[in-house]
Amino acid sequence: MSDPGSSIMHAPPPGRRGIAALAAMVVPRPTWRFVVLAEIGNFAPIRRHVGCARADLLVEDVLARVRAELPDLRAFAAGRSSVEIAFEGDAASDLDCTLDLLRDACARPFDLDGEEHRLDIVFGAAAGRVPQTDDIRLIEEAEAALAEARTIDSPVRHDLAGPGAREVRRLAQELRVAINEDQLLLLYQPKVHVRRQEIGSAEALVRWRHPVRGLVLPGDFITAAEDGGVIDLLTLWTIRRAIVDQRRLQASGHDLRIFINISGQLLADEAFVDAACRLVAEADAKLGFEVTETSVIRDPQSAIANLQRFADIGITIAIDDYGAGLSSLAYLKQLPARELKIDKLFVTQLTSSNRDPLIVRSTIDLAHALEMEVVAEGVETHAALALLTVMGCDMVQGFLISRPIALDALMTFLVEDHHHQAPQDTRASFTRLAAAWKRG
Ligand code: C2E
Ligand code: MG
Ligand code: MG
Repeated sequence: MSDPGSSIMHAPPPGRRGIAALAAMVVPRPTWRFVVLAEIGNFAPIRRHVGCARADLLVEDVLARVRAELPDLRAFAAGRSSVEIAFEGDAASDLDCTLDLLRDACARPFDLDGEEHRLDIVFGAAAGRVPQTDDIRLIEEAEAALAEARTIDSPVRHDLAGPGAREVRRLAQELRVAINEDQLLLLYQPKVHVRRQEIGSAEALVRWRHPVRGLVLPGDFITAAEDGGVIDLLTLWTIRRAIVDQRRLQASGHDLRIFINISGQLLADEAFVDAACRLVAEADAKLGFEVTETSVIRDPQSAIANLQRFADIGITIAIDDYGAGLSSLAYLKQLPARELKIDKLFVTQLTSSNRDPLIVRSTIDLAHALEMEVVAEGVETHAALALLTVMGCDMVQGFLISRPIALDALMTFLVEDHHHQAPQDTRASFTRLAAAWKRG
């Protein structure tokens, strides 16, 4: 077998510190870039009170507060009375969460040489997609948003990409109809357990059979569903459908756990969490929820508490797209997650990049140290499968094994694969798996 990554396969395993260092190297590949301008609105009256010399240091006070409370953001002085803050994220809504945190951080009084003063901070912000948006446009939009914010006395954001507000409203309205008229459908993509050679679970991926536009992929409507306030309805529909489909699978002898993608926004939505728990508990369904780590970082307290509620009723929690967003080892170990899914960006480049095998290998070790099983998503080639197998990856998912397919096709797939499920030694298992997957 040709193996471009063999130096990794034979390298000694990194020690614990090595694992943490490598895991910390995981490069975020965010899809949004944000700039926030924070201006001290009451600079002039405070300067009158504390004098010019002290007033000139006010920006440093704001910077110190921001850096202490939100250390992941890059903050620097942008003039006598304003601060520029830059950061990245994987959803447009990250900006709103950070603006809330910034407002809270700056709302508390500042100690100016023993006297407490409130600073009225005005926020103007801009969001742009990476890599399409250039930094200068982003700053100009943040400046325009700040000018607006000064007049209305509340934060203003300008988005440079994604559907406009009117388009979001239209899509959200169409989605409501789609949910009621059964235009949505779920496809399933199996996850294969490498050592056991078993398909123990499948991920449900939503599609929209649009009456005019044909089949629409989730990338084109999930953000609008989130921004337009229909993601809860959509996800409850998904859960109901997955429960029905899981029963059908069970009745035909395939006891698979079905994983559903849960938008980060919903982890802080108590009404959604109540409804989802009720649905799953009443059906006694074997489900899993995939959530991204970034979605937890937004509001860790309620996200962790709600994930625990899900875990308590038997829902398996998987961390999706690991390495693609903002990763935090501090939160990772607090999550009641049993699976960690390595983002497909690392997996698809596994055998062509020098760094990605290191990252994947260290992530597998890290997840195992945290007693989680590892799923590699985006497995497209035999070379990637071989490398992942030797690295100790527990499960694989990707076009090499199966594309997302309809429920009936999944049942056929499962029936055809039954004879591959006998346990064998690793080498023989691998050869058989590779042979089986070559067919498809
Ligand atoms: P995800 O959860 O990370 O799902 C994996 C995506 O990668 C899927 O795209 C899948 O079709 C694709 N994929 C699977 N194997 C391969 C492979 O070998 N190579 C490549 N290049 N791609 C592969 P899809 O179905 O378009 O979904 C995109 C994203 O949309 C999902 O990413 C998930 O974040 C979101 N999504 C899908 N269904 C739902 C849903 O019901 N609710 C929510 N909130 N989000 C959903
Ligand atoms: Mg997923
Ligand atoms: Mg994923």
